[in-house]
Amino acid sequence: AVVVVGSCMTDLVSLAHRLPKTGETIHGHKFFIGFGGKGANQCVQAARLGAKTSLVCKIPHDLLKCFLLLNIKKLTAQEGHVGVKGSDWSDPEALLSIQVEGMAQVGKDSFGNNYIENLKQNDISTEFAYQTKDAATGTASIIVNNEGQNIIVIVAGANLLLNTEDLRGAVSVISRARVMLCQLEISPATSLGALAMARSSGVKTLFNPAPAIADLDPQFYTLSDVFCCNESEAEILTGLTVGSPADAGKAALMLMGRGCQVVIVTLGAGGCVMLSQTEPTPKHIPTETVKAVDTTGAGDSFVGALAFYLAYYPHLSLEEMLKRSNFIAAVSVQAAGTQSSYPYRKDLPIHLF
Ligand code: ADP
Repeated sequence: AVVVVGSCMTDLVSLAHRLPKTGETIHGHKFFIGFGGKGANQCVQAARLGAKTSLVCKIPHDLLKCFLLLNIKKLTAQEGHVGVKGSDWSDPEALLSIQVEGMAQVGKDSFGNNYIENLKQNDISTEFAYQTKDAATGTASIIVNNEGQNIIVIVAGANLLLNTEDLRGAVSVISRARVMLCQLEISPATSLGALAMARSSGVKTLFNPAPAIADLDPQFYTLSDVFCCNESEAEILTGLTVGSPADAGKAALMLMGRGCQVVIVTLGAGGCVMLSQTEPTPKHIPTETVKAVDTTGAGDSFVGALAFYLAYYPHLSLEEMLKRSNFIAAVSVQAAGTQSSYPYRKDLPIHLF
């Protein structure tokens, strides 16, 4: 199985013809809410390819929603007696519309149950999706332009409450996995704990240092069997400028010097660059040329696919795994949204499996 220790976020996505400048307000043409968070995204992509998956995560209880539903029952019971701010709440139809509005508002910060449902629909085990009432759902506010480029602000919320005690609770599933995958949208101490737990059980570790932090604890490198980052993360981690495969190769060499077994730097439409202890010369693996509609979450599709191949096709060469992961991520950029754009095994060419 693939176990992901990571985040769930509610994506708040606005589509606009271009990205706004600092201090500027622009009109967008579409808004939607989606399921995101790097941990869940990667887990969903691995699951859609056929991996048996578990997500160890923390998401809020839907307490507010339950509370509101209870109140609605009460109001219904008092039908004919309630009047607020000039509204005629004695009319059952009017009451219904007020209830729905109220739920929608509260729903903004009570996506826990919806998220659990989403994970289940993707065949992901939610046994270790811990619930909390102490923080809000993580959110990612995303703006996407006509070229499919994006800017993103995340507020991690409940994700930061996932702790090492939760990991101990999930030790049975982590220690029996083929691959344990984590990122940095949860507390770094928890990610590090997950890597250490997996390593001590002989489970292959895949680490995606996203979003990147400049002074990453050196143990993240030594505990990563596979360390996979994108260009901007490579820049933050190394201080180098990464704009070409040659640059990515230099960054990968520097990162491998810190103790990882394999380093992969993804390059958007440029594919990726790989480097391993056994093949210590950087190798560029280009990808398909496709029309990008929305590149949000392409990296997560790539990492999720890589986790799937590492777990289920360990006999493939690393290069072959990366070619296939490139292909899958290139499919994901051709549709809108994050998880909504991730392909299922049944929709992919047979030669990938
Ligand atoms: P992130 O989404 O983290 O910024 P990248 O932009 O590097 O990561 O994309 C990750 C992977 O997704 C790339 O290595 C590539 O396989 C694929 N990809 C991203 N953008 C494109 C694109 N425009 N065309 C084809 N593949 C893409």
